[in-house]
Amino acid sequence: MMQHYLQTKEEYKDCILFYRLGDFYEMFFDDAVLVSKELELTLTGKSCGMEERAPMCGIPYHAVEGYLNRLVANGHKVAICEQVEDPKLAKGIVKREVIRVVTPGTNMDIQALDESKNNYIMCIVYLADKYGISLADVSTGDYYVTEVDSERKLIDEINKFAPSEIVCNESFYMSGVDLEDMRHRLGITIYSLDAWYFSDETAETTLKGHFHVNSLEGLGLNDYAYGTIAAGALLKYLYETQKNNLDHISAIHPYSTGKFMIIDSSTRRNLELVETMREKQKRGSLLWVLDKTKTAMGARLLRSYVEQPLIDKAEIEKRQDAIADINRHMITREELREYLNPIYDLERLITRVTYMSANPRDLIAFKNSIGMLPPIKTLLEDFDTELLKEIQTDMDSLEELYQLIDASIMEEPPISVREGGLIKDGYNENVDKYRHAKTEGKTWLAELEAKEREKTGIKNLKIKFNKVFGYYLEVTNSYRDLVPDYFTRKQTLANAERYITPELKELEDMILGAEDKLINLEYDLFCEVRNRIAAEVVRIQKTAKAVAKLDTFVSLAVVADQNNYCRPKINENGVIDIKDGRHPVVEKMMNNDMFIANDTYLDNGNNRISIITGPNMAGKSTYMRQTAIIVLMAQIGSFVPASSAKIGIVDRIFTRVGASDDLASGQSTFMVEMNEVANILRNATSNSLLVLDEIGRGTSTFDGLSIAWAVVEHISNPKLLGAKTLFATHYHELTELEGKLHNVNNYCIAVKEKGDDIVFLRKIVRGGADKSYGIQVAKLAGVPDSVIERAKQIVEELSANDITAVTKNLAVETGTKKKKEKLDEVDLAQMSLFDTVKDDDILEELKNVDLSNMTPIDALNKLYELQNKI
Ligand code: ADP
Repeated sequence: MMQHYLQTKEEYKDCILFYRLGDFYEMFFDDAVLVSKELELTLTGKSCGMEERAPMCGIPYHAVEGYLNRLVANGHKVAICEQVEDPKLAKGIVKREVIRVVTPGTNMDIQALDESKNNYIMCIVYLADKYGISLADVSTGDYYVTEVDSERKLIDEINKFAPSEIVCNESFYMSGVDLEDMRHRLGITIYSLDAWYFSDETAETTLKGHFHVNSLEGLGLNDYAYGTIAAGALLKYLYETQKNNLDHISAIHPYSTGKFMIIDSSTRRNLELVETMREKQKRGSLLWVLDKTKTAMGARLLRSYVEQPLIDKAEIEKRQDAIADINRHMITREELREYLNPIYDLERLITRVTYMSANPRDLIAFKNSIGMLPPIKTLLEDFDTELLKEIQTDMDSLEELYQLIDASIMEEPPISVREGGLIKDGYNENVDKYRHAKTEGKTWLAELEAKEREKTGIKNLKIKFNKVFGYYLEVTNSYRDLVPDYFTRKQTLANAERYITPELKELEDMILGAEDKLINLEYDLFCEVRNRIAAEVVRIQKTAKAVAKLDTFVSLAVVADQNNYCRPKINENGVIDIKDGRHPVVEKMMNNDMFIANDTYLDNGNNRISIITGPNMAGKSTYMRQTAIIVLMAQIGSFVPASSAKIGIVDRIFTRVGASDDLASGQSTFMVEMNEVANILRNATSNSLLVLDEIGRGTSTFDGLSIAWAVVEHISNPKLLGAKTLFATHYHELTELEGKLHNVNNYCIAVKEKGDDIVFLRKIVRGGADKSYGIQVAKLAGVPDSVIERAKQIVEELSANDITAVTKNLAVETGTKKKKEKLDEVDLAQMSLFDTVKDDDILEELKNVDLSNMTPIDALNKLYELQNKI
C-alpha cells in the first residue's frame, strides 16, 4: 500500500494527497506535517517498512468537505485518492485511484462557493509580447477566450474577473509581472504548467475532441491564435483535475476586450463597484445598490455587467429599452419577481447533474425551479423590446423534464441515493412490486397460512421464520398425517416438523430480496433520470442564461423605479450633461439627511476640465465620484440617479483619489500617486473621463502646485490629451487657469460662514473658492480648542507678515534663488519654466526677440542659440 501511495504521490507532486484508508483520508510525510499544522490536526505516525515511522494525519471521510475547502481556500491543490473497488470483494490490496484534483479555481463544493460570484480559473499564455487568456467557471460551465497586447490590459482582465486561480506558461511566470501582488492582494493561486500544455497540438486536439468538431474555425477562434492556446491548455488542465466528461462546458465564448469600457484596478477600487475599499464588503458598493436580483444566476450576471460597462451605443440602448419596457408593465414585473424568487441556481445544478453528483433533492429543486418557467414565458409575451423577446425565445420551458422528474422522484426524498425512498409509486412496475412486497409481506404470509390450513385441514399450521431456513411451515406431530406431498420436509423436532413449499419460497424471495432489490433499482432509475436531464445540458444552460438576463433587467428596472432614476440619453459626441445628479450609494447610506443633487456639464469644447475647489468635507470627492459612477451606470445600460442626463460614451474612466491603500506595497505615497498620474497621462484618450483628486499633495506646496498645474495644461491640450476631467484641488492658484486655457472652468462647493463656523451647503457653483476653511473644518472634527486658537494666531501672523514669509519657505524648499515675489503675483502659467535663474534669462531674451524683422534662418539660429543655453 505504501508503495502505491508513494507512486501516486510522485504523479501528483504539487498536490496534497488525500489517501483513502477505510473510513479516513490519510496524509503522510510532508503532507501530514503541513496539513496537521494548517488544520490543527493531531500528527501521528505509521510504520511503513522504513526505519522511522512515517508522519501521518487523517480526516474522517464523512467530514472531508470542510477540511478540504479550508486547504483549497488557502491556495493548496488536493488530489483525492479513493478506493475504487469494494474492499469486501478485493483480492489483496484494495484498488485505489485519484478521482479528482480539487484546486482553488475548480472547487465545486457548494459550501465553498459564493453563489453571487463566479469562481473563475484563468489561463494565461505569454508569447512574443501578446497574452492569450482563457477563463472558465467549472461550476457553471462558462468558458471564455480573448487576448491582449500589453501587461496593463492583462492586469485589467485579471482585476475584472478576479479569478481564484491562474495557470500560466513559464514565460509568463518568469516575465517579471508582480505575482506576489496577485497572490497577496488579490488572493490568487498561481503556478506554471509544463510546456506541452501550451502547444498548438494540445490546443487543437483538446478543443476539437471536446466540442466534437473537425476544425476550430467553427468555434469562432480565428482571431485568437494565442487565446486558442490558452483555451486548449485550460481545458486540458480541467480534464486532468476534474477527471470527468466536462459536458457542461458546452460552448466557448471568444470576446474582445475592446467591447467594454476599460477600468483599471485602482479605479475599480476607488469607485467601489462591487465591494468597498476598506471593509471589502458588498454593502456600500454600487453593486449593493443595483442588486435586487432574485436568483444566483441573475446576481452573477449583474455583477459581470457592473464589472464590464459597454461602449456601444446600440447595445446600451437595447438594455435601456428592456428596463423601460419592464417598468411600463409594473404588474407583470412584480409577478415575474415572484416567479423568479424560487428558482435555484440552475447553472450549478446542471453542472452537478452532468458530474453525476446531483442528489435527489437537487432534482426536486431543479423541478420546482423549471416549474416556474412556463408562467414566466407567458408573462414575457407582454413585452416587445428586442432583448426581452430574445429572452422569451431562448427560455425553454423544459416541460418534459418537469414531467419526468414529477413522475419519477419523490417530493421529499432523502439526500442519499443509496437508501431508497427516491422513486414515486406508479413510475416503475418492479419498484411497486418490491415496495408492495415489503409492506404487504406479512399479509401475504397470513393469507398463505390460512390457505394451506384450509387445503390440508391442519388446524394449527403456522408460518414461522428463522435465520437458517428462512420462512417455513410448522406442523405439530398430531397433524403429521395430514401433510400433503408438495410440502418438503426440512427439519424434524421432538414434537413438530418443519416444511417448505415452492410458493412459500417464492414469497420469501419477494419479501427478503425486496429491500435490496428495491434500493438498487431505485438507484438505477434515479441515475437514468439524472442522465436524461444531463443530456439536455445545452438547452438548460441556455435557459439558465435567459433567466439570469431577465432577473438582471428586472433588478435594474426595480432599482430605477424605487430610487427615482432617469433614463440617460446616450450620445457619441462627448457631451456629459447631468441635471440634479446624486451619488447612488451615498444617498442610500444617509440616514435622515437629504442628499443635495448637483449638475455636471462636460464636453469636448470649452468645458473639458472642471477645477473644483472647496474646503475639506465640502463634498468634492463625492461629487466627482458621483459623476464617474453615473457615467459608468449609464454604460452598464442602467438608469441613473439624476433628473435628466445626457451621457457621451467614454472609453475609459481613470481615477486618482486619495492615497492610503497602497502604503503596504512599500512605495511612498507620493511615488504611488505619481505612478498613477503617469499611467493616466499615458493611457487616457480624448474620450476618457478622468477624476483627479488633489494631485500633487504628497510633496512640497511649490512642487505639488507645479505638477498639478502642468498636468492640467497637458490634459486640456487636445493635441496632447484633451480628456474630460474633474480636478479637485486645494491649490486655489489653479483657478487662474480658467482665464488662461479656454476649456478649463472653475467650480466650487459652496459653504456658508456663520460666525466662527461654517455650514456645508453641498451645492456646486461656478467660480473658485477663495478660502480653505481648514481651521473651521479642524474645529468641526474636534481638534482641541487650544490648538485651534493657536492655529488662528499663526494664520494671522502669517498674513500680517505678508505672504513673503510663505514664499521664502517655498524658495528654500525648491532650492531656487527666485526673487521673493508675492505668490499671487507669480505668473504661474510659466512656473514650470522658472526652474533656475538661467531659464529666467533665456525667457527674457526670448521675449525681446523681434520676430517680425527676422528671416526664417535667423529665427532658426536664434532658437538654436537659446536651446544651447538650456
Ligand atoms: P471632500 O472630498 O470635499 O473632502 P467628501 O466628498 O468626502 O468631501 O464629502 C464629505 C461628506 O459630506 C461625505 O461623507 C458625505 O456624507 C457628505 N456629502 C458629500 N456630498 C454631499 C451631498 N451632495 N449631499 C449630502 N451630503 C453630502
